[in-house]
Amino acid sequence: MKEPTVPECRHWIGSERRHCRSVDHIHPYLTGPCCPLHTPAALAGKPEPPPGPGLPPGGLDDAQATVDHRTELNL
Ligand SMILES: [Zn+2]
Repeated sequence: MKEPTVPECRHWIGSERRHCRSVDHIHPYLTGPCCPLHTPAALAGKPEPPPGPGLPPGGLDDAQATVDHRTELNL
């Protein structure tokens, strides 16, 4: 079995209890490859309405902390 060479989104979708694993438009982040929907900024700035049960509390806390740090660097 060969390891996939295409990076995939490693974002953990808590409400669906699975990893995203999207391979479209993946960008590398410190936390790992992320698709556009699951970058720290996207998660904190434009939270997607959860289709099912809500996101677990604390799931976005880490993302927001990461975004705050990145915002400082960008400014
Ligand atoms: Zn994703």
